[in-house]
Amino acid sequence: MEAVDLKGVPVVDNHCHAIRPDGAGKDPISFRRAFTESADPGMPRDHVATTAFYRRLLYSLAAFLGCEPEEEAVLAARAAVEGREMTRMLLQDANVEALLLDTGYPPPEDVLPPAELAGLGGCRAATMPRLEILMQRLIAEHDSLDGVKEALRGELSDIRGRGHVALKSIAAYRTGLEISRWRDEEAEASFREARREIQKGGRLAHKPLLDTLLHVAFAEAARQEVPVQFHVGYGDADTDLRLGNPLHLRGVFETPEYRGMPVVLLHECYPYTREGGYLAAVYQNAYLDLSYAIPLLGYGEMLAFTRQALGVAPSSKLLYSSDGTGAPELHWMGAHDGRRVLGEALGEMVGHGELSASEAEAVGESVLRGNATRLYGL
Ligand SMILES: [Zn+2]
Repeated sequence: MEAVDLKGVPVVDNHCHAIRPDGAGKDPISFRRAFTESADPGMPRDHVATTAFYRRLLYSLAAFLGCEPEEEAVLAARAAVEGREMTRMLLQDANVEALLLDTGYPPPEDVLPPAELAGLGGCRAATMPRLEILMQRLIAEHDSLDGVKEALRGELSDIRGRGHVALKSIAAYRTGLEISRWRDEEAEASFREARREIQKGGRLAHKPLLDTLLHVAFAEAARQEVPVQFHVGYGDADTDLRLGNPLHLRGVFETPEYRGMPVVLLHECYPYTREGGYLAAVYQNAYLDLSYAIPLLGYGEMLAFTRQALGVAPSSKLLYSSDGTGAPELHWMGAHDGRRVLGEALGEMVGHGELSASEAEAVGESVLRGNATRLYGL
């Protein structure tokens, strides 16, 4: 079946992170470390170089840089290009229209600021603050739960006015996606414990408190109709993947007051793509992000999750991203792979009599840029 050609379509990268001035490291171990979610030191040393993702990265970079498809040659060719110049070359080659940046990671002092990235990429850059980081700061600053709630409402009272296009939550890998309602005394006790630990350098991972504050944030997002992105599924090494199944969000979707809040389920919910696609098919405010650099997958697996998403969710609910972080290779390869995989999956739908060729092109354009432009009001 003939793939749909999406090579000329610019992408709105609806979820990614900023880039370090020097990108990925220069020696093999630190370079490989940019392409694993594992915190185990043995992984970059012994195993990362054998993943399907890494092999594809080397072949792609070698073709781009005009060198042999060997790690040593690719690292030497990269080292000859200054870090910012590499970012400029890769972002411009990726044909990026806009980067929507999760500013919660890496820390702002470690990365190029949004305006500089936009300049290098010849694109727009918009930001999405991470709720748990904001909450943690407010817990340290206020000595009562009511004070924190009040301050949080204030911080979120005009999200777009502060220059943000969405909010981001990492509840999935702090306390899980089953976001509950807690009695006041449970939330108060959780607040006192969290505040003590945060003052000693700990972090917010206290479920009654985090859930309670998330409800405050959701009310603000719903009132302003601002999308909230949720990390779902595969991610940081400390995630408990069992708690990151998007079906746990049923309570949020079933709350009538939150219907105005678009919920973006990130990372195709991998490996729960079918569950995420189902939610996007059932709840009008559920959207499914398809990220093509992280999770770090082989081509066949990306084609599989794309088929699953297109097979159950309305295509008007699907959004392209890279989830690239730190190294510009991720934002770059995600854009090229996303176009190719999506084009192949859409070509199959034409073959199955589900779309005409021109409809398939239009769907490709919507997933790569149009749906995000509308959803985030870009
Ligand atoms: Zn991310």
